[in-house]
Amino acid sequence: MKVKQTARFLLWFLFFVTFTTECVKILFEFGPSGGHKPPESTYAFFWTCLLLIELVMAGLIVYAVIRYPARRARLLCLAAAHFTVILVLPMLLGDWSWTCLLYPWPHSLQCFDPATPRAALVISLAVGLVAVPLMTYRWGIRAFCGYLCPHGAFFSETYGRLFPGKPVRSGKATRIIPPLYFALMTAALAFILFRPDYTDPIRTAQKLSYFFTAEFFYFVIGIPLLGGRSYCMLVCPMGYFIKMLPKRKAHSS
Ligand code: SF4
Repeated sequence: MKVKQTARFLLWFLFFVTFTTECVKILFEFGPSGGHKPPESTYAFFWTCLLLIELVMAGLIVYAVIRYPARRARLLCLAAAHFTVILVLPMLLGDWSWTCLLYPWPHSLQCFDPATPRAALVISLAVGLVAVPLMTYRWGIRAFCGYLCPHGAFFSETYGRLFPGKPVRSGKATRIIPPLYFALMTAALAFILFRPDYTDPIRTAQKLSYFFTAEFFYFVIGIPLLGGRSYCMLVCPMGYFIKMLPKRKAHSS
């Protein structure tokens, strides 16, 4: 029991240090001089921590696949989606913008970054606007939010399983934040499409809100205290979008 608690604390600490470093990096980049940059070693430390997190998650997946046969199919799908899009593809192509394939609108506006290759932008939009709605129509919310999402679905089945957090109850926050966030993401998409000259400030604002909600809040506070699906229930605009999509009615023959 003590070993488990220590391991859990160390993993939480790794997340804490990683995303606190990212916060410091962001603060430096927003420095008043405009040229205020964090030292190179901050980037090296941050990326090393992220890689360490990915390695620990891979270990947790292997453990869970062996230990829990009933969860095997889901874990293997999630691991394939997560590690392909978050690690293998960007490393093979030498460009981390490719992670936008499974972080499409309305989850993020990453695909609109000027550095994102055109092919990645097109595929990401096709995933968010065509593939996700189609799979939701066919299989319901569990298709993307259960088997594919490299964020809430993946981390709730790995890191999230280490904490006995209670599921978030439906309350005011769950009724207000996701629809509001989705409305803002829709307005942001419309703005970017009709006024591309506004892409930079809009993307910067979205990047900041993503960092504080989907990363810092989710990994450091949400998962340990509120459970693996805390971000999904309390914040995620993508989850709200998927819930609103029409689903095929089940026919009894
Ligand atoms: S609610 Fe959002 S973060 Fe959670 S699984 Fe669905 S898309 Fe992913």
